[in-house]
Amino acid sequence: MIPNHSPWIHQLKRTRPVVPMSADLHADTVIVGGGIAGVVTAYFTLRTTNHRVLLIEADKIAHGATGHNAGQITSYFERPLTELVEEFGFHLAIEGQRSIESGWLLLDEILAETGLQTPVYRFMGYTGISTFEQVLQHLKNNRHRVNGELPPENIILAEEWEEREKIPEEYVDLYTTVAQKDLLALLETDNLGYIGALSYQKGCMNSALFSEELIGYLIARYADRFSFYEGSPVRTVHLHQDSATLDVLSHTVTAQRVVLCTNGFENFTIINHAGAQVDTSFHDSVAGRIGYMSGYVAPFNDSPVAISYFPKAHEYNEDPTGDDYFYLTRRPHEHEGNQSYNLVCTGGPEKVLPNGAVYSRESVCSEDMRILIDDFLKDNYKKHPKDEIQYEFCWHGLMGYTSNGVRRIGVEPYNPVLLYNLGCNGVGILPSMYGGKRIAQILAGDTLEPSIFDPHD
Ligand SMILES: Cc1cc2nc3c(=O)[nH]c(=O)nc-3n(C[C@H](O)[C@H](O)[C@H](O)COP(=O)(O)OP(=O)(O)OC[C@H]3O[C@@H](n4cnc5c(N)ncnc54)[C@H](O)[C@@H]3O)c2cc1C
Repeated sequence: MIPNHSPWIHQLKRTRPVVPMSADLHADTVIVGGGIAGVVTAYFTLRTTNHRVLLIEADKIAHGATGHNAGQITSYFERPLTELVEEFGFHLAIEGQRSIESGWLLLDEILAETGLQTPVYRFMGYTGISTFEQVLQHLKNNRHRVNGELPPENIILAEEWEEREKIPEEYVDLYTTVAQKDLLALLETDNLGYIGALSYQKGCMNSALFSEELIGYLIARYADRFSFYEGSPVRTVHLHQDSATLDVLSHTVTAQRVVLCTNGFENFTIINHAGAQVDTSFHDSVAGRIGYMSGYVAPFNDSPVAISYFPKAHEYNEDPTGDDYFYLTRRPHEHEGNQSYNLVCTGGPEKVLPNGAVYSRESVCSEDMRILIDDFLKDNYKKHPKDEIQYEFCWHGLMGYTSNGVRRIGVEPYNPVLLYNLGCNGVGILPSMYGGKRIAQILAGDTLEPSIFDPHD
């Protein structure tokens, strides 16, 4: 039995005791949830407004998805841009994509201002694709990107790939060709099934360490108007005309605004005393999926990288309607007191959390998932040592998926006292940053253009 053991939590080396709420409290803005979304929302709110901010976390800072992810910094939606254009129209979809990419600048801004020491690695990331349909999908996305004046993704196709001739004329300016062996080298694979590669800016960081460090900065910088409590699950959020009260342990918090940064669906109730009920529509609109990952320590021979793989056959995925999709990151890692190692982390397999079921962070790792990841690596990652390797880390985390795959950022339509920055949808680091900034602008009273992130009930 291998416990849920994530490298990001391991690296926290946390010594700070959990301090739960022990009295009734008041704040201008209360933020529920201390993952990266909650902490960054607190940062931008404190920086943009003069609010007294209280952050309440049920467990410990950054021990949710933030402490159990792959830690890739990337700006894609787990939904093609073409679908977002169909749903929201061209302008809103492009602006949504641009907003997520603005997360890079926000990350820079935070690092520059706070001087945090969490290592952030940046590099060109790659995605391996293996079917005509995938190629066409990415070309269509790229056409929208070009038309919307977003930097195009670099799409590279294998010269040897015969189906290339079937690509419609209208897309020929959107890709280049190289010998397949060069394309496979970018993807660090020998698997001849890959006939295309996309490249775009990516990075990686330990988002738990980042959040924990940022909390330390906020406590020091805003001692007069920021506080946070851990081990303090919010049970009920009561919404009134111009304020909210929250039941936490045996205490009450009152605030003018509440921001839910809870990833989704955890165990709390929302009661709107000043309008239509929001509870069921909110809870029904965010579904849980458990993502599984494993990581091994390797010699320090290669530079940091992030590669996603879309292999051809449904070889690894039990669900015949789903895509096979694996993501790998490699980054420098301290091991046994020595800095000269890499950590190779791979994820991909997911399970849907049945409606109403409770996810336990404490449950052990799935041996089946570890084997699935290992099989995938043997077939696809040429630097995998092939023989039995020791997985130092094996972990799982819960992701909240909104029904349209788009993060929910903004004001609850039935009661503006409540705001959201949640719905991880598989990729949440940059969206959380953008969400934090947007929430702070709303709290500051700015008038914002409509966006694809606006909550609808
Ligand atoms: C396996 C996996 C791989 C991933 N890989 C990537 C990746 O490579 N790149 C990327 O960008 N994103 C990735 N993500 C998503 C990313 O980790 C999250 O979107 C991101 O961490 C955002 O976190 P969050 O703050 O919204 O949620 P969380 O980190 O889950 O934080 C929510 C917090 O709210 C607290 N909470 C919930 N309910 C209550 C309550 N009632 N009272 C008080 N507190 C409460 C929880 O305890 C938790 O700490 C991955 C996620 C998983 C699970």
